[in-house]
Amino acid sequence: MAVQTVASTSDPAVDLGPAAALSCRECGHRVPLGPVFACEECFGPLEIAYDFSAYDTEELRRRIEAGPANIWRYAPLLPVPADVADKPNLNPGWTKLVKADNLARELGVTGGLFVKDDSGNPTHSFKDRVVAQALEAARAFGFTTLSCSSTGNLAGAVGAAAARAGFRSCVFIPHDLEQGKIVMAAVYGGELVGIEGNYDDVNRFCSELIGDPAGEGWGFVNVNLRPYYAEGSKTLAYEICEQLGWRLPDQIVVPIASGSQLTKIDKGLQELIKLGLVEDRPYKIFGAQAEGCSPVSTAFKAGHDVVRPQKPNTIAKSLAIGNPADGPYVLDIARRTGGAVEDVTDAEVVDAIKLLARTEGIFAETAGGVTVGVTQKLLKDGVLDPAKTTVVLNTGDGLKTLDAVAGTGLTATIRPTLDSFREAGLA
Ligand SMILES: *Cc1c(COP(=O)(O)O)cnc(C)c1O
Ligand SMILES: [Zn+2]
Repeated sequence: MAVQTVASTSDPAVDLGPAAALSCRECGHRVPLGPVFACEECFGPLEIAYDFSAYDTEELRRRIEAGPANIWRYAPLLPVPADVADKPNLNPGWTKLVKADNLARELGVTGGLFVKDDSGNPTHSFKDRVVAQALEAARAFGFTTLSCSSTGNLAGAVGAAAARAGFRSCVFIPHDLEQGKIVMAAVYGGELVGIEGNYDDVNRFCSELIGDPAGEGWGFVNVNLRPYYAEGSKTLAYEICEQLGWRLPDQIVVPIASGSQLTKIDKGLQELIKLGLVEDRPYKIFGAQAEGCSPVSTAFKAGHDVVRPQKPNTIAKSLAIGNPADGPYVLDIARRTGGAVEDVTDAEVVDAIKLLARTEGIFAETAGGVTVGVTQKLLKDGVLDPAKTTVVLNTGDGLKTLDAVAGTGLTATIRPTLDSFREAGLA
């Protein structure tokens, strides 16, 4: 498979399917598709604008349902070429929507509780969805090196996608991440660089590298390819609704790092409504953070529109972004939909990881513990309605954050005899 090379960023030969242009989220200024992420007029973030006008609802629904069991079933709604399914890609998505009846009973939810389990993706986190989009954009713009600043999961997703697609990868992480995240990012053979600092320092470094000749020709999936990357999170919204029988959930609880995922889940739900694929009725979006990195929930509870940066200190390292780029948009969405943003302590995160594992057989990473813990807290506080259909996201795999549950282990150690088994009180 030849890598497409495109000389100019505004070259009309760039084929990203229904993506029509980049549009500024602040002032609406439009520019041609290219590896740019900030508005030249107001420095606001750019996002993909589409032309969906040609779609017939029923034909689109049939086309999606006949598509592959991965995110490319939604290719008509994503910034990717029509033949995307033929390209070397990890093809993530179409993860399980688990009806969590045991957890529902424990939490007193009667309206239906579901866990969207994204630990089932190729590198065991939701990040495979966003990287798959960024990879296609990188191909279209002629980049051959993939890079990113990462809190851990993104590094692994980029390394794996690059390996599969034949790109070089060079990714940057805080040097003190969990061993599971480091190994998972390194094993695919790309370059992995630890930075002495937290994620916000890593991100600042990458912004500098982009402007330097050393970073020329690099596709940073969450910086200069961010508008494309971000669209991958819409597939969570599409899948949840399709798996519910083309129905909107009433309530959805989403973890927040930069806030990108939450804002794009809302964008995906809005698109399904506009396209007529689901009935237009109210839904509420709730955001989840760890107390040790809770800039968005702090702002939400204080009634502020601005998010004041924090220095992260939590076991939920994948969510440890102290200065979240999409924070203000998350506040808007939580308030507009009648949702909320809440946080839980690290101890509550650990309890929630164990609760989900014990009730549903799902071993979540710390980010999943944050989301389940916040769900529990919002139910207790009467903020979430137990009589409504509720979807909780598990975005990562507990095998990558084993330290969080380090106290969990053997029930007993015995000699290989029945007597010893009885002595241990297990008979
Ligand atoms: C990156 C990540 C998120 C959320 O990321 P956003 O920056 O808010 O889009 C959630 N869960 C896990 C496990 C992640 O790695
Ligand atoms: Zn602008």
